[in-house]
Amino acid sequence: MIVVQKYGGTSVGNLERIENVANRIIKSKQLYKDLVVIVSAMSGRTNELIERAQYYSDNPSKLEMDKLLNCGEKESAALLAIALISKGYDAVSLSGKDALMLTSSDYTNAKIISIDNSRVKQELQKGKIVIIAGFQGADENGFETTLGRGGSDLSAVAFAGALNADLCEIYTDVDGVYTTDPRIEPKAKKLDKISYEEMLELASLGAKVLQNRSVELAKKLNVKLVTRSSFNENEGTIITSEEKMEQALVSGIALDKNQARITLRQVEDKPGIAAKVFTTLAKNEINVDMIIQNVGRDGTTNIGFTVPQSSLNQALDAMRELLGANALIESDSEIVKVSVVGVGMKTHAGVASSAFLALANEGINIQMISTSEIKISLIVASKYAELAVRTLHKTYNLDK
Ligand code: ADP
Ligand code: ASP
Ligand code: MG
Repeated sequence: MIVVQKYGGTSVGNLERIENVANRIIKSKQLYKDLVVIVSAMSGRTNELIERAQYYSDNPSKLEMDKLLNCGEKESAALLAIALISKGYDAVSLSGKDALMLTSSDYTNAKIISIDNSRVKQELQKGKIVIIAGFQGADENGFETTLGRGGSDLSAVAFAGALNADLCEIYTDVDGVYTTDPRIEPKAKKLDKISYEEMLELASLGAKVLQNRSVELAKKLNVKLVTRSSFNENEGTIITSEEKMEQALVSGIALDKNQARITLRQVEDKPGIAAKVFTTLAKNEINVDMIIQNVGRDGTTNIGFTVPQSSLNQALDAMRELLGANALIESDSEIVKVSVVGVGMKTHAGVASSAFLALANEGINIQMISTSEIKISLIVASKYAELAVRTLHKTYNLDK
């Protein structure tokens, strides 16, 4: 039986915790013949490395950033291997490049092209516990790359797929997937099971317990995925393709704090304006999320949209260049996106109106709305983030 386990940043956050992980791996090794472990950098390390680079530049070379950022995961992988060897177990650590993960050359946000599993298999055949540095690979030129923030989850799923593993366990600092972030709403309930579809939606809308690309890949490769805590023995959450007999109306509330809003005021109300604005943003590789356009009046209209906070300055520059120095362009980064997710919404009406009513009762103004078959997303002021999450959690009886 091949099992892939992934330990996140908090789980390997200091030397004692790495030792705790080593002890857990030793127990697992008694159960499973072949064990492959993916690790994140110690918590805070990736941010620390980014800050160091920013000492020299606001826009450091992405190629060099990847060589720097992947060191965090190499550090924890080697420390874990050292801990295991010191306890008498045969272990080896591999970088993403050593483990033959081939990626695109989109430095700092590379896509996985393929994994040649021969190196990992070779080490397993020697009886070793294989520790792989998560979040990284290398491109066809041999340059090392990273997979985007939270990318160790993606590494774990990708290696589980490449090795045809029987199970991929994601160990983190909470017991599993909850109805919302348990750090915001202590009454949140742990889910025993969740569908890939709902998990993907929650993850894409900000629930960072699993990185969204990892869920997508797990679904595609049919990887059996479980999230659980590295700090206790509690049962976690199984991510599955099984449909429940009866779908809950709403399965969870997600919060995304990484949003900023731009409003273009009094732009000419004529065909082609929206196309120009959004083509420009797309050319700059800026992901636009929500869009709102008012009904025009007196030949002008307002267009509002949200972008990731990290792209705000770039988006503002692009809009100024497109619309000219006198254009009325406003921005606000003190906003968040709160989302209600549930497959059951497909067949129920009135789900959105209860969200609007509940927030209104709390005096929370909704700035933007978008809906799909299985989610409702709302933009509200940052100061209401936690209150909005708790209010919606209660509205849909998720605490029961
Ligand atoms: P790791 O470092 O192990 O990858 P992360 O910090 O990336 O861990 O993800 C775990 C965190 O996700 C939890 O500490 C929790 O605050 C947050 N979180 C957000 N939404 C949820 C949710 N619905 N269920 C569980 N945890 C959530
Ligand atoms: N260390 C990386 C990050 O902080 C990857 C990960 O932890 O999954 O984003
Ligand atoms: Mg994570």
